[in-house]
Amino acid sequence: MSTDILEKIIRLVHEEYDSARFIWHGGEPLLATESFFKQALKAQRKYFGKNLDRCGNTIQTNGVLLKPKFIEFCKSNRINLGVSYEGNYSKGLRPGVNKDSINNSIEYMVKKRHMFTLSSTIHGGNVDDMIPIYDQFNSMKASFCYSPVIRLGCGLDNEDVQVDADAYINNSIAAFDHWIYDKNSNIPVMPFFQYVLTAMTEPNISDCAHSSCLTKWICVYPNGDLYPCGKACPSEFKMGSIKEIEHLSEAFESDGFRNILVGSIERRNKCKGCEIFGYCNGGCSIDAMADGDIRLNGGFGCKVYRAIFKHIKSTMDAILDTKPDLAQYNHFIRDAVVGKLINPRVYDSITGIQ
Ligand code: SF4
Ligand code: SF4
Repeated sequence: MSTDILEKIIRLVHEEYDSARFIWHGGEPLLATESFFKQALKAQRKYFGKNLDRCGNTIQTNGVLLKPKFIEFCKSNRINLGVSYEGNYSKGLRPGVNKDSINNSIEYMVKKRHMFTLSSTIHGGNVDDMIPIYDQFNSMKASFCYSPVIRLGCGLDNEDVQVDADAYINNSIAAFDHWIYDKNSNIPVMPFFQYVLTAMTEPNISDCAHSSCLTKWICVYPNGDLYPCGKACPSEFKMGSIKEIEHLSEAFESDGFRNILVGSIERRNKCKGCEIFGYCNGGCSIDAMADGDIRLNGGFGCKVYRAIFKHIKSTMDAILDTKPDLAQYNHFIRDAVVGKLINPRVYDSITGIQ
């Protein structure tokens, strides 16, 4: 990405938004080297000035090029690191990767208390390893998120990585049940812990897929092309180019944005009879498209969220109703339940609910 495009993004974001979160991803963003991120931070300082704390940054990397010096650079600039990693269970997803080097980086970040999250891709080869993945990262005190592969890009081209919805659901439920009864748990397992908090409040406080992302995110390609999301979008969703606009709002008036909006609204209207619509909000439009038709629910994302969320909600409802001995649960569950029982209003305001 050229300096001109980089600076223009930050300028246009600043002109129309009070705050912003920048997620730097690829490909592999660390190939751009530290100097690129120094330029980005310089432009953020230039435009956001004394409001720089309203500017957040995350770098989403495969971890191969992570080194202590770069981690320290991120730490001193409050840059969150996201590392795509499955520990010992990539099962062919990342051939040739030096796991010792990535494990050393993770241990370094844990020791130095640097902000980071691991994102573990769950695919056809490792879907039965969800509990061992948790056990490995729990022993490393490294927070992580399960991320099921979707049928787009490489996930579409390689049938062996595609994951069966029932296998993902069953293993997710087993992993959730394993985690909540793990009294030695050091980490909140995502997205399950988000679903726990969502299940105890209303409306939801969940991830982008369940909080209606449209108009809140924009993806800028290195050449300046604009899309509504960083997931592989088709050309019909292209929102023009940053080179051709003077205000970001122009991109949201494009035919490309209209195309994703119209399909998403149609699907969400069909979702309104769903008993968990208030928590789900109709899910991710790109996932629905990957499942065959953006206008239809019932695909992989819908099926797995419905099953996993309902299991988590019924678990949390049972705990709140029957008030069992909380000592049998991990401290994340205990704290969430105690907070809700002691003072639901304070709890709801902490979690963002009015
Ligand atoms: S399209 Fe899907 S992945 Fe992209 S921001 Fe929206 S909900 Fe998230
Ligand atoms: S679970 Fe499925 S049907 Fe229900 S709101 Fe979500 S996407 Fe729609």
